[in-house]
Amino acid sequence: MYLSGVGPKRKEILSKELGINTYGDLLEYFPYKYVDRSKIYSIKDMVGDMPFVQIKGRILSFDEYEMGPRKKRLVAHFSDGTGVVDLVWFQGVQYVYKTYHAGIEYVVFGKPSIYSGRYQFAHPDLDEAAKLQLSSMGMQPYYMTTETMKKRGLTSRSMEKITKTLVEKLQQIEILETLPDFIINPLHLCSRKDALRWIHYPQSTEEVQKAQVRLKFEELFYVQLNILRYASDQRRKYRGYVFAHVGQYFNDFYHDNLPFPLTGAQKRVMREIRADMNSGRQMNRLLQGDVGSGKTLVALMSMLIAIDNGFQACIMAPTEILAEQHLQTIKDFLKGMNIRVELLTGIVKGKKRKEVLEGLQSGDVQILVGTHAVIEDNVIFYRLGLAVVDEQHRFGVAQRAKLWAKSINPPHILVMTATPIPRTLAMTLYGDLDVSVIDELPPGRKPIQTVHKFDNQMTSLYSGIRSQIHQGRQVYIVFPLIKESAKKDLKNLEEGYEALKEVFPEFKLSKVHGQMKPVEKEAEMAKFVSGETQILVATTVIEVGVNVPNASVMVILDAQRFGLSQLHQLRGRVGRGADQSYCILVTNYKLSTETRKRIDIMCDTNDGFRIAEADLKLRGPGDLEGTQQSGVAFDLKIADIARDGQIVQMARDEAQKIIDSDPNCNLPVNSLLWNRLKELRKTNINWAAIS
Ligand code: ADP
Ligand code: MG
Repeated sequence: MYLSGVGPKRKEILSKELGINTYGDLLEYFPYKYVDRSKIYSIKDMVGDMPFVQIKGRILSFDEYEMGPRKKRLVAHFSDGTGVVDLVWFQGVQYVYKTYHAGIEYVVFGKPSIYSGRYQFAHPDLDEAAKLQLSSMGMQPYYMTTETMKKRGLTSRSMEKITKTLVEKLQQIEILETLPDFIINPLHLCSRKDALRWIHYPQSTEEVQKAQVRLKFEELFYVQLNILRYASDQRRKYRGYVFAHVGQYFNDFYHDNLPFPLTGAQKRVMREIRADMNSGRQMNRLLQGDVGSGKTLVALMSMLIAIDNGFQACIMAPTEILAEQHLQTIKDFLKGMNIRVELLTGIVKGKKRKEVLEGLQSGDVQILVGTHAVIEDNVIFYRLGLAVVDEQHRFGVAQRAKLWAKSINPPHILVMTATPIPRTLAMTLYGDLDVSVIDELPPGRKPIQTVHKFDNQMTSLYSGIRSQIHQGRQVYIVFPLIKESAKKDLKNLEEGYEALKEVFPEFKLSKVHGQMKPVEKEAEMAKFVSGETQILVATTVIEVGVNVPNASVMVILDAQRFGLSQLHQLRGRVGRGADQSYCILVTNYKLSTETRKRIDIMCDTNDGFRIAEADLKLRGPGDLEGTQQSGVAFDLKIADIARDGQIVQMARDEAQKIIDSDPNCNLPVNSLLWNRLKELRKTNINWAAIS
């Protein structure tokens, strides 16, 4: 079939830039927003930050301004009788003069911004009012286009025309329904055919909404069906080791070594984990708990139960520093008990490494603490019963799968994350995991006070730091180190470190960053941990896990460069002891609205769940750290996990019903679903990651 407006050249661009090769692909290239073009705005009603709007009026006159050599800005003063705005062009000045004329009535469409106290439209759309039939324009769709596309004249406007032509031909194309009536009818979803027409060519907001709900539901439903099918498959394929009894190790620890009572939340989670490990099913549990909520202890007690039942356990951390800290913590907790705990990271080499590997194979090493080094192929366990993964957001499904190969039956898996994941996201990204939550901090913690300072208020900041150190506390000062510009940032940190040494000649400073040799890093960290140094100048390498209860001040420089969850993680390094702790976010004066929001939320709350929700809303799940590495980074075409929580839940419930009633995926009533899922798994990027 021929589609007018798409010649061989455009075909090639669409294929290269957007991966659109078929009419089906084009139909599934959804607009990212709509603008109601049936309404006209009055200039006098424009206030604040404006969305895209339409105004109708006349050009009063033109003005040109020089902007450096051979650069001009053309301004048309435009009035609708209620006020005046400026239309501005930086390019194509000759074209503008030729095409638009003073005195003629135009409809101007664009996003106004304020410049020198007046609203201006940069490179607006102009149509002669007499030639425009607004009532028929209705909702105008907007399509994402790439720079290359725009350069070749394939704008959102042209995409709109192309899809419109296609939608008009829909009568001739067979659009198969992809959901069965028994799902469509009770949920009052529209048909796929209507949805595809309305999503590109809606006459009203209602049509947009109906189409969106239907298409979002469908997308999320198949994601859920895929995840739940996978989970139920795993369950049938593998049995779980049964840890029937709680024995000597656990009891000795609980009665003799545990230095404080467990919190209610820790007790509840322990019960959940024990039930899992005794169920005959393999445990796959995600443990969410804010920084400092005491997850490590839960992990340790779970490991003791594994050992009590004759198995080995391991715990994996995302960085060497953190692995070493875990080792230290665990050794301290287990003092006086006869349990062999070993470390395995990239820096454990030679004879020591050989010893550890042999101990693992013989079963002599009971608890292994490590980094990703633990899942390397040459690490062989005698009988691995439980694997704990700390900081899930850097550890994807694929790596978890690798762990399974380390035992006859897969070990029980406990994944811990300190970046709380909003429920809807957890359901989508980690839908195959059960979730436990520690929603209570150990008693006696004072909430951290967070304040914002501009970078010209350093003197008062320094005196605050000084007074804390005089009270015996320690201080973190964090510099941003973002990968792409590592060299510049590193220089920044080095210079900052030297400068701070001069500011605080009476104190000792440590310094750690990712580019240092592990031994150096460890030595510097050790000095801070022991209290020998009072100030630790660092990059985000200290983000995860590092535990120095005596540190009470976290200063984050250039805080505008950090994401919310990162800020929250960093802040979690303080507030671990009994003293009042502070987090100081330092920024420059120019803050974007978004940065402002981030800073405000940080100053407003310590609640990780609220911060995670806000983060998801501000950034969208695509950018969330770990979404990419999670192994389930399917591209959602239309659903937005942050905003479509209700639809996620709906999709989850429907998918669960199907799996419950048809666990073997072979009932004829569901054949439509299973066939569609098979089809999607062939086409969609990365679905195979959890096959
Ligand atoms: P996270 O959940 O961030 O990993 P940790 O496990 O590092 O938190 O715990 C933070 C601190 O709280 C540690 O010093 C730990 O020993 C302590 N802690 C854990 N559980 C309790 C408890 N029930 N009562 C008092 N302190 C606790
Ligand atoms: Mg931790």
